[in-house]
Amino acid sequence: MPASNSFFSALSAALPQIIQRFGTPFHIYDEAGILDTGRQLNTAFADLPDFREFYAVKALPNLRILDILRRELGFGFDCSSLAELRMARMTGAGGSDIFFSSNNTSQEEYLAALDCGGAILNLDDLSFVDKVPAFPDLISFRFNPGTCEAASSVIGTPQEAKFGLRTDQLVPAFLRARERGATRFGLHTMLLTNARDWQHMYGIVEMMLQSAASVSQCLGAPLEFVNIGGGIGIPYRPGESDFDLDTFAARTSAAFHEFKARQGWWPRLYMECGRAITGPHGVMVAQVINRMSKYREFVGVDASMSALMRPGMYPHAYNHITVLNPDGREKTGQRVTVDVVGSLCENNDKFAEQIDLPEPSEGDYLLFHDTGAHGHAMGFQYNGRLRPQELLLHTSGEIECIRRAETIDDYLATQTMPCTRRLVAACDG
Ligand SMILES: *Cc1c(COP(=O)(O)O)cnc(C)c1O
Repeated sequence: MPASNSFFSALSAALPQIIQRFGTPFHIYDEAGILDTGRQLNTAFADLPDFREFYAVKALPNLRILDILRRELGFGFDCSSLAELRMARMTGAGGSDIFFSSNNTSQEEYLAALDCGGAILNLDDLSFVDKVPAFPDLISFRFNPGTCEAASSVIGTPQEAKFGLRTDQLVPAFLRARERGATRFGLHTMLLTNARDWQHMYGIVEMMLQSAASVSQCLGAPLEFVNIGGGIGIPYRPGESDFDLDTFAARTSAAFHEFKARQGWWPRLYMECGRAITGPHGVMVAQVINRMSKYREFVGVDASMSALMRPGMYPHAYNHITVLNPDGREKTGQRVTVDVVGSLCENNDKFAEQIDLPEPSEGDYLLFHDTGAHGHAMGFQYNGRLRPQELLLHTSGEIECIRRAETIDDYLATQTMPCTRRLVAACDG
């Protein structure tokens, strides 16, 4: 936070035209910002030639965005469902471009992951080794070391997590995988979320390198990669500091070089960041439609938590809000403490509680920062509140709709009703 100055000023200047053309609410993403951040990540690890980022598709599952990440930045994709696999493949990704980290995996998912050129299969449990229908050459396991001081409230304490293999299960898993035909091995973990302290991420790197050394010793074979997962954080609140990527990358790179000097080999470094890549480069814009006085002061907008779940779902989540005049300029002046709410019949349908804003009036717009990851993606349809459109601000300055808003017809498309009983729908204008 806030959206980069160039994104904010482009948006602010074009707001009246954007709204005239597309209406509200919408999420809009900044292609230039995403590319910039992606290039920073690639450059930071230039010292580790085999470094690769597998973008976590769940953070912003939009084909156009995925296409840009693959084409312009060379990212692979971290997928964990059939739909995410399909999306990754629609961009042309396949084989070693896709990391498939499902958990509680079904047979259908193994089959799909192994089909169409395959994917790097990342197994989440010891028992899964015998469930993979046709064992691939390359196999990875998700490791849960059971402790992690920095693990967050979202992922939970590692011992309560449903994810990953215990330390004592790792070597038996790799040995069993070898019996089933695997000849190449990798190790994965995902322990942090929204970590802005580089030392927390670096702790994961050290832990994974140690584990790689001991596993490979037991196996008598080097590990091809360690995937340290995602979890790099972004500053959602004003005044919070950025993750120090350069220091993290320099220390990580040094640790890999030391590892190589000691062991005579090194694994590739893989990451699967979502939030850090696209999070800051998206915002949601909604219009103020009601200004209400109850026991508290309320500002009602034309979007609900179906459009942005984070603040209502996680106790400490925060998305900063800027109030815009109808002409797109930032509003200043008299401030007021309000709750910002949507229209869902749930009292946690609040984008912010007791927040201080320049007095928002009906007709103003609210800009919610940092919605480029885990924003639109988390939306649902509860209460018939549907998900809004997604726009993309291209580097050329052009603005394009890259996902239309859901309609009531979309909502009803999965239900059936005999023709003779469809009378009510017929009068729905
Ligand atoms: C959610 C998730 C990620 C991405 O997390 P961010 O916090 O967005 O970086 C990466 N890997 C796995 C397995 C995940 O579940």
